[in-house]
Amino acid sequence: MEQIYFRKGFGLKGAIEGALVADYHSRVVDAVRERGYCLALGDLTFRLAREFGFCYGVDRAVEYAYETRTKFPDRHVFLVGEIIHNPHVNAKLQSMGVEFLSREAGGDFDFTGITAQDVVLLPAFGVTVKDFERLRAVGCVMVDTTCGSVLNVWKRVESYARDGYTAVIHGKAYHEETKATSSQATKFPGGRYLVVRDMAEARIVCDYIEGRGDRASFLATFAQAMADGFDPDRDLERVGVANQTTMLSGESLAIAEEVRKSMAVRYGAASVAEHFRTFDTICSATQERQDAVLKLIAEPLDVMVVIGGYNSSNTTHLAAICQDRAPTFHIEDSACIDPEAGTIRFRPVFAHAEEQRADWLPAGPLTIGITAGASTPNNKIGETIERIAATRGLSLEAVLG
Ligand code: SF4
Repeated sequence: MEQIYFRKGFGLKGAIEGALVADYHSRVVDAVRERGYCLALGDLTFRLAREFGFCYGVDRAVEYAYETRTKFPDRHVFLVGEIIHNPHVNAKLQSMGVEFLSREAGGDFDFTGITAQDVVLLPAFGVTVKDFERLRAVGCVMVDTTCGSVLNVWKRVESYARDGYTAVIHGKAYHEETKATSSQATKFPGGRYLVVRDMAEARIVCDYIEGRGDRASFLATFAQAMADGFDPDRDLERVGVANQTTMLSGESLAIAEEVRKSMAVRYGAASVAEHFRTFDTICSATQERQDAVLKLIAEPLDVMVVIGGYNSSNTTHLAAICQDRAPTFHIEDSACIDPEAGTIRFRPVFAHAEEQRADWLPAGPLTIGITAGASTPNNKIGETIERIAATRGLSLEAVLG
C-alpha cells in the first residue's frame, strides 16, 4: 500500500539547501555573531540576543515544506493555516505554489477542494484531532511538520484525559497550537479541557475550585475556551496543568502553583496529588529566547527592536519582557523601518493595531538591542539592522567586506 502519511523528511536536504540559504540566510547576522553578538557602527551599537530567530521546530517545518514541494512537483500542495507565523516565510511558500487553507469565519478549515491526489502540509503547531481525521478521510498525502515539543504537550494532555483529569492549558484559545493541543483531550471519553489566557483568568478558575465562583459568569467567560459540555462543578475536581509551548514561562509556573494551592485549600494538602498534576511544557527554544532577552536587557539599552509576526505568540512575549526596560518596538518585518522617511511602524505591546512613529531614533550615541521570535528568518533580522543603520545614514558595507 502506498505510504500517504509522512513525518520524517524525504532525504532531500541537499536539493533544497541552496534555496533555503538564498531565502533566509543573512551575512549581517553572521557578522554580528562573529563579533560576539555586538556590532559598533558610527555612534550606534547593536547588541543581539544570544538566542534568537528560527527554532529547531521552525527549521524543521520550513525544510520539510521545501522538501515536499521538491518531492511532489506536479501535485497540488496545500497548507493548513500558516506553516509558521511569519509573513515572509509564508509568502515564499505561496510563491512556490503552496496553497494556503484558511478557516471559514472562525469555523472549520475548508477542505472541500482537496482530493486524494493532493498533498497537505500540517504546520509546526499541529492540527486538531478533528481536522486530522477529516484529512485522513480524504485520503490525501499528509506531510506532518508538527514540532516534537508540541507533540510532548499533546502526550501530557492525553495522559491527563486518560486518567480523568481536566487539562487546564495556559495558552491562547484562538491560537492554532492551543486549538490542536486542547483537542487531544477529546480523544478520550469524557476528556475535558479549559484554556486560561493569563493569571487573571487562572484566578477565576482558582476561585471556583475554592468554592467562590459564579457558575453563569464562569461559563460566559470561558465560552470559547472550554470543551463542549464542560461543567465547572464536575470538571474542576481533578485538573492537570499544561501550557502552549510559547507562553511566558514565569507566568505558566505561577499559574500552576496557584491551581495547586487552590486544590490544597479545597481538598486538603494531603490530597493534592489526587486532584492536581502539572508539567511545564514551555519548549526549550522559547525558554532560551526568553532567558537570552532577559540577559540582554539587564544591560542598559536605549532602544529595543523585536522582530516577528504580530500573531506570533513567542515574539509578542519577547516584546512584553522588554517593554519595562527600554522603549520597545515590535515590528513585523524589516520593511516596517523606512530609512528615507525616518519612520518605524510597530505594534505597541498589548495593543491590537499598528502605529507609525517618526524620529524614533534619539540623537547621540545609542545602544540598540535586537531580538526576533522563533519564526523570524535571519535575513529579516539582518535587513532590520541595515535599515536602522541607514536611518542614521550609516552603511554596513565596510563591515561586510
Ligand atoms: S517555538 Fe518551540 S514548540 Fe514551537 S516550533 Fe519552535 S521549538 Fe517547536
